[in-house]
Amino acid sequence: MHEIRFFNTLGRRLEPFRPLEEGLVRMYTCGPTVYDHAHIGNLRAFVFEDLLRRSLRFLGYRVVQVMNLTDVDDKTIRGALERGVSLDEYTRTYIDSFFADLDALHVERAEHYPRATEHIPDMIDMIATLVDRGYAYQRDGSVFFRIAADEDYGRLSGIDLEQVKSSARVASDEYDKDDVRDFALWKAKKDGEPSWDSPWGPGRPGWHIECSAMSRRYLGPSFDIHCGGVDNIFPHHENEIAQSESANGVPFVHTWLHAEHLIVDGQKMSKSLGNQYTLKQLLERGLEPRAIRYVYLATHYRQKLNFTFSAVEAAAGALRRIDEMRFRLASAVEGEAPSPAVAAAIARLEDDFTRNLADDLNAAGALGAVFVFVKEINKAIEGGAIGAGDRKRIEDALARVDQPLGVLDAGAWQEGDGDGGGLDDAEIERLLAERQAARARRDFARADAIRDRLQGAGIVVEDTPQGPRWRRS
Ligand SMILES: [Zn+2]
Repeated sequence: MHEIRFFNTLGRRLEPFRPLEEGLVRMYTCGPTVYDHAHIGNLRAFVFEDLLRRSLRFLGYRVVQVMNLTDVDDKTIRGALERGVSLDEYTRTYIDSFFADLDALHVERAEHYPRATEHIPDMIDMIATLVDRGYAYQRDGSVFFRIAADEDYGRLSGIDLEQVKSSARVASDEYDKDDVRDFALWKAKKDGEPSWDSPWGPGRPGWHIECSAMSRRYLGPSFDIHCGGVDNIFPHHENEIAQSESANGVPFVHTWLHAEHLIVDGQKMSKSLGNQYTLKQLLERGLEPRAIRYVYLATHYRQKLNFTFSAVEAAAGALRRIDEMRFRLASAVEGEAPSPAVAAAIARLEDDFTRNLADDLNAAGALGAVFVFVKEINKAIEGGAIGAGDRKRIEDALARVDQPLGVLDAGAWQEGDGDGGGLDDAEIERLLAERQAARARRDFARADAIRDRLQGAGIVVEDTPQGPRWRRS
């Protein structure tokens, strides 16, 4: 097995990855603030984290992933007030929208999606510990973390604290803090805001404490991986480390991984440029979600991803090459003995693919290995070199490497509910007969359309010398 290496933001270097508990990876991924629909820049980090969890499993680990839903903060409160609905009603719309986006991109569900508003006691508990230990203090019903009490502060981001001092001064009028750099753990209630009771009076938690408290609740005080976008490094993740290590007295997280920004047509996304797309807007324009997922995978997570419509088109073309190979393979006639060329191609695929993925999640390199494989198998099909059992061996190899990628299987991306889409056996047989007739008159477009319809309904068709066979996937 190839050794896994990750680029750890903490220390800024590539290093071998070993979890605290053998065979199990515990990871925390900062989730969305549910005040609006996610845009494609937000979704980049979530697809990266999906690739990470799938890859860790592919590389032999069990994974427990936690992703918080920030359902109380300035933006959600303002949104609910403006719309005249409760916070819960307001955020529910965007929580549903978020999960719909994840499903559309075939992002696997994490093990836990804790909501901030359901874990207020955990946060109060942690804040109380910080006050007891002298890391936090109360002012007019709010509680602040005292940065001067934490010698290690700034370790993750390498931030220059003197610079923070001058930039924070501008924004510090609102609260009466001892030091302008100190950040709020608990915010005293303001008029019209939702609030919870606490030892310091009614109020609500700050954003940073939410992740420290919920990660401890689900993963314990020390765990393996913490992810987010690069914009989370400072101050959010820096503050999480300060809170968690000061409260728990043990190292917080071993490996920090951060996804770079997504830009559109080489420009920063912004509302004023009109390029801040949501996934729904792209799907309404007819872009394929499968090709969009491919675009996310094809740029290394530590590089800026330049999203363009032509990149999505190119991704769709790349995927079509794989689909076409599989289609040709399905009707290739198998020879008597297994082909050594096919065996060699499979071995090379598995080695190159795994090595790339283990090397700081080089998905672009892993996809490259898939295309080398596709080329070799096409050559084998053309040369009549597909041997006994090779078809299944090739399909199995593709299914294995698709476990972390989640894009290679066209059937999995068709519309339909996977239970036959309401097609009964007689209807399936009728469609198959119609497809055979279309092929006989060389109407391949019609034959393909029928095959797609069956595939979309979760029906796998295999062409054998005795004619087509089918099964429900
Ligand atoms: Zn967070």
